[in-house]
Amino acid sequence: MEQQDLRSMDLAEMTSLLKELGQPAFRARQLFTWVHQKQVSQLAQMHNLGRQLLEQLEQRCQPTAFQLERKQVSADGTEKFLFRLADGNYIECVLMRYRGDLSKQRNTLCISSQVGCAMGCTFCATGQSGFVRNLTAGEIISQVYEVNRILQEEGDAMPVGNVVFMGMGEPLLNLSAVLKTISLLNDPQGQKMGIRRMTVSTCGVVPKLLELADQKLDVVLAVSLHAPNDKQRSSVMPVNRQYPLEQLMAACRYYQQQTGNRISFEYALITGFNDQPQHVQQLKQLLKGLDCHLNIIPVNPVANTAQFGRPDKKQVAAFVEALQQAGLKASVLEEKGTDIDGACGQLRGKVLREK
Ligand code: SF4
Repeated sequence: MEQQDLRSMDLAEMTSLLKELGQPAFRARQLFTWVHQKQVSQLAQMHNLGRQLLEQLEQRCQPTAFQLERKQVSADGTEKFLFRLADGNYIECVLMRYRGDLSKQRNTLCISSQVGCAMGCTFCATGQSGFVRNLTAGEIISQVYEVNRILQEEGDAMPVGNVVFMGMGEPLLNLSAVLKTISLLNDPQGQKMGIRRMTVSTCGVVPKLLELADQKLDVVLAVSLHAPNDKQRSSVMPVNRQYPLEQLMAACRYYQQQTGNRISFEYALITGFNDQPQHVQQLKQLLKGLDCHLNIIPVNPVANTAQFGRPDKKQVAAFVEALQQAGLKASVLEEKGTDIDGACGQLRGKVLREK
């Protein structure tokens, strides 16, 4: 019999498993609390379940195998974790500890949803390495639970409070596992993480974006735009050849109709490519009528993509000002951890090359 992955299970699945094992429903709630609230990974630690039930569970379930392989800390405090999965694959997640004003203090974790990625964006290390497989909900949520464990060991009283699905992979191509992770993180008997504290990003897989819109979830949607017209966008993001901007913008409008939420557009600013005055006008035209915010990110240096020039602070500020003058809401999103293979997929790529 195939063993079930405990961290991938929600309360309904645990209830039906325990019913099968002849156990009362309250046992399922106890199990759920151990797995998703206390974030315990080993059955042996779940001491109030009783020996007989633990033995039964050992036959039917397995803890999500997850091993910290490497950690890198950036000069700006950003921490990158490389985890090894049961099948020997690697995934990355990035922790940003925001401090300063008490009201703004938070730990935000950027998590992966796939091993590798099929979308092939040319400026992205993950995109250059190809797709391997989807992650299970248990593997996605384990990134949060394992980093929480590390934070606790370090004496940081604040667990991960915000999650961004912006690591390796295209989250909408693993939508069912991503939706399950969101629901598990939000569960009042689990981490109780507010839905608005979760951001789902996409490079623009239109049918899946429409599917997400129909969920009417309150998650923050971040769309990777990166270029203001089809010709340029298709040259850096192959997804645009399949779903050009007209379709993507129509899907964004539908998403806004369904959820009422403002949309974030990510725009990696590349010197001499997408930072000219005509690009500001094209963006103005493209985003007309949408309630949205543009996050301008100076492009991250990625191996083999030296052609993408990183603009300096002055150039970035001038572009943001031009957008604001054109009536768009825009701000600079400082890319963190550029000294620690900060862009998604870089650390995994480095370790795979070493091995
Ligand atoms: S940017 Fe995102 S969608 Fe594009 S290749 Fe990289 S991981 Fe995939």
